Amino acid sequence: MRLFKKNNQIDENQVTIVEELKRKISQSGMPSCVEDIALKELDLLSKMNPSTAEYTITLTYIEYLTSLPWNKKTSDNLDLERAERILNERHYGLYGVKNRILEHLAVKILSSNRTPRILVIDDEEIARKNIEHVLTKENYNVMTAKNGAEAFKILDEQEFEIVLTDIRMEGLDGFAVLEKVKAKYPNTKVIMITAYPALDNAVEAIKRGAFHYIAKPFKIEEVKLAIKQAIQDRVSTISTKGSILCFAGPPGTGKTSIGKSIADALGRKFARISLGGIKDEAEIRGHRRTYAGAKPGRIIEEIRRTGVANPVLMLDEVDKICQDFKGDPASALLEALDPEQNYAFIDHYLDVPFDLSGVMFIVTANIPDNIQPALFDRMEVIEFSGYTEEEKKNIALKHLIPKQITEQGLTEFPPNFTEEAIFKIIQEYTREAGIRNLERMIATICRKIATEVVKDNMPRNSIIITPEVVEKYLGPRRYYFEVADAKNRVGVVTGLVWTETGGDIIFVEVAKMKGKRELILTGSLGSIMRESAQAALSYIKSNAYVFGISEDVFENQDIHIHVPAGAIPKDGPSAGATIAIALISLFTNRPARRDVAVTGELTLSGRILPVGGIKEKILAAKRAGVKTVIIPHRNKVDIENLPEDFKQDLEILFMEKIEDVIDKVLI
Ligand code: ADP
Repeated sequence: MRLFKKNNQIDENQVTIVEELKRKISQSGMPSCVEDIALKELDLLSKMNPSTAEYTITLTYIEYLTSLPWNKKTSDNLDLERAERILNERHYGLYGVKNRILEHLAVKILSSNRTPRILVIDDEEIARKNIEHVLTKENYNVMTAKNGAEAFKILDEQEFEIVLTDIRMEGLDGFAVLEKVKAKYPNTKVIMITAYPALDNAVEAIKRGAFHYIAKPFKIEEVKLAIKQAIQDRVSTISTKGSILCFAGPPGTGKTSIGKSIADALGRKFARISLGGIKDEAEIRGHRRTYAGAKPGRIIEEIRRTGVANPVLMLDEVDKICQDFKGDPASALLEALDPEQNYAFIDHYLDVPFDLSGVMFIVTANIPDNIQPALFDRMEVIEFSGYTEEEKKNIALKHLIPKQITEQGLTEFPPNFTEEAIFKIIQEYTREAGIRNLERMIATICRKIATEVVKDNMPRNSIIITPEVVEKYLGPRRYYFEVADAKNRVGVVTGLVWTETGGDIIFVEVAKMKGKRELILTGSLGSIMRESAQAALSYIKSNAYVFGISEDVFENQDIHIHVPAGAIPKDGPSAGATIAIALISLFTNRPARRDVAVTGELTLSGRILPVGGIKEKILAAKRAGVKTVIIPHRNKVDIENLPEDFKQDLEILFMEKIEDVIDKVLI
């Protein structure tokens, strides 16, 4: 008797769960093809024993489907002036970056202000005329076609915001029309109508990129609503189509915070996914449900978390995705980002298409050259560069200090940072292209002041931060001007490298000793740098007489090239010229000036080829106290494009051959 009652209870619970899920499914706003699948799963669930693992898996799956924001979208605020104000209020400088972003938004605004044009394709005259009549009354600009072939002709000549097409037609059918539209105008929304409602057709239509699916006989209100939604959707996706924004630059240069400001300006939600070191494709696209512990991928999960289908999604460090054994994360990512295919992104866990075309993707990278070519091709790269000391000071005064004062509860008695104090923090306590550590140091000082104020050790008003106060709170200086403080030596030349964290200086050291003409390379050099060292040595040997070096000095000698500073990644061809000059210094016994930095690729025939990262290298040279920078002649255009304050207090020389600049470096 008791057992019977218990079973009965289980059944009742089961019925409520199923009813509840049914309600959730119908309220979730999922497209009808997904709804059909969810209901099928629900039907299976209702027949399962709740104590089985399969039951839990199916239940979780259905709940997950209902929790996704299928058609929830924030509507965009397309006020360009407001966007400009927000960007300017929150960020100092970055004029080029801001302009590019505003241009991006302007295009979107223009395209959304037009009267929508609709193409209606139906081989039934009455239906066609009917729809045309109703939509024209709604103030849309309507054209009609009586079959696929006629539609093709019209589509060849002009673009429509919306195409409403019957599926079953003689000759070219609705799917052919869909394919043509998607290929030619990826922004256009296609709504499919058919008198033969079948699940397969619906799934197929959505998979191939249709926006919506309506079954005949339909109420005209249904069509009107679908069109309204399509137009809204179009507006909210336009800016993301065509190209994906890629913010490239060293850490701490404002990429994330500009991304957030774009979201705020548009009135969209913002989320961030870090891709650094991802090896497994499933992290992006999810695991199939058949795996134990299967999960959706990070993109779908992040969208669920934001609760809308059109957030600004920032994908950090795309240049650090690894290509490895577990699938190919880069190509999964491409599917998510590519406007041609992402309207029907299939996450393995969901196993039904989810429309990502409303998402505004912004990716970030430290070095854009490292992004995989297929991804790179679809991106509009916006470069963020490091800041000069003057810019850092201004950002500190206008943004970082006020922010930290508020965060550390000092608003009632804000400390006053002197310019000298800020420069001291920048030069002696940080060594970076961006301003992350600068912000951290300012936070530390504010926190310590807050503590002292609470302990009553300090008068509350007129707190002034001088260089002495900085030293008191931050301790002894951490960085020195490596170059200005060092002695000139034979066989040691200053070089410049471009790394993920911006630019940096290196010292190339060479030494000779008795041996068997061996070349020893140390300092964790990458393979390209090792090769350029070999090429530099061969060049010097084969042109010894030009540099006044006697050819027998290479007899019975080993040559050792070392580049210290283990933490700096050293690869790439740009140290070739630096190594060659260090060798000349060694063999001619002339000391090299430490405050002259050289960068350039050297070919075996002695030509100097241009190198990358000039802007970051110039900033690094200034940070280290370098007085003269020597770069390849063919990088002159990079220097011409630099703002004036980058070049202040720095002599910049150009070389076509090593011989041009030997006397500038060697004493
Ligand atoms: P990234 O994403 O490039 O690593 P962040 O956006 O995290 O850098 O920036 C680090 C900090 O510096 C943030 O607090 C940001 O607001 C601030 N910041 C960076 N650039 C600027 C700028 N130009 N104006 C104002 N604040 C800035």
